[in-house]
Amino acid sequence: MKRHNFSAGPCILPNEVLQKASEAVIDFDNGLSLLEISHRSKPFVDVMENARALALELLGLENKGYKALFLQGGASTQFLMVALNLLEKRAGYLNTGTWSDKAIKEAKIFDDIYEVGSSKDANYNYIPKGYDIPADYDYFHCTSNNTIFGTQMKEFPESSIPVVCDMSSDIFSRQLDFSKFDLIYAGAQKNMGPAGATLVVVKEDILGKVSRKIPSMMDYKVHISKSSMFNTPPVFSVYVSMLTLQWLKDLGGIAAIEKENEKKAQLIYSEIDLNPLFKGFASKSDRSMMNATFNLANEDLKETFDAMVKEAGINGLNGHRSVGGYRASMYNALSLESVGVLVDVMSELERKA
Ligand SMILES: *Cc1c(COP(=O)(O)O)cnc(C)c1O
Repeated sequence: MKRHNFSAGPCILPNEVLQKASEAVIDFDNGLSLLEISHRSKPFVDVMENARALALELLGLENKGYKALFLQGGASTQFLMVALNLLEKRAGYLNTGTWSDKAIKEAKIFDDIYEVGSSKDANYNYIPKGYDIPADYDYFHCTSNNTIFGTQMKEFPESSIPVVCDMSSDIFSRQLDFSKFDLIYAGAQKNMGPAGATLVVVKEDILGKVSRKIPSMMDYKVHISKSSMFNTPPVFSVYVSMLTLQWLKDLGGIAAIEKENEKKAQLIYSEIDLNPLFKGFASKSDRSMMNATFNLANEDLKETFDAMVKEAGINGLNGHRSVGGYRASMYNALSLESVGVLVDVMSELERKA
């Protein structure tokens, strides 16, 4: 049976990427597996360079003073690495969900953090607006897409200070002026590849301004100077990320995938709004194109709905424990057809009930 994978992360990857990746595990370079060659060998160095170049190209950030790095430790390590590298006196954070909150907690280890806005009071079902970012702060940090709550920033503040953004769950999914950001980071496992690598895209001129000593592994400048090969990189994750980025480029890049993502989001949200058995969680104007969160209006139908979802071959629909209900994660590799299958199940429930 065909599975429809709505998992929030790790999550769906393009089938052809999985095919090529599995081939490389057996034979990547003349009978040698990708997993058993030196990361310093030419074939792998080419993979790393290609992956870094593709990331910048897709984001439209070539020749603009940015460097792309593939690091380890997940987006969660970036919570502290950002602060270590950029925080001298004070930074401003927009608190839009669990991941922002965790980023704030890590940065507080180093210095004072000012929450410029927060939607914690409403269990993060909206994105705060109209906040001010003091011009004398070291940087402003935000989370573009709140994976757990299903909200997404549609606009980003104009700011004279560096803007840092956790784009783990919507990078490469929609067109933005990425040059407005000075540092972007994203764990690979939501729109780019397998867990294990974290993409960091950083504008070089914001670095080197803090007075503290930074341990080598935590220092962006060290990783830049070693072309993201300071230590052994997560070779498999980097390779599969490269394949996914190439897949996206061949499709027509972010502009092309954004159109698909819009269609998928429109399909699910119109069902959520029209079907009286479901209620959307996120405030309408802040709804995420990647993660749609919704609940049953009547919990008595849970058993029936869950059984129908399972029967249809749908995987990964359970909401995060802090929201409950359901979450349909519709990352780049998920087809419109899969969203159609889910929507059919939702309307079938309405007919039955
Ligand atoms: C998943 C996620 C994280 C955590 O990523 P790890 O790679 O597991 O550390 C951070 N931020 C956002 C927005 C996420 O979706």
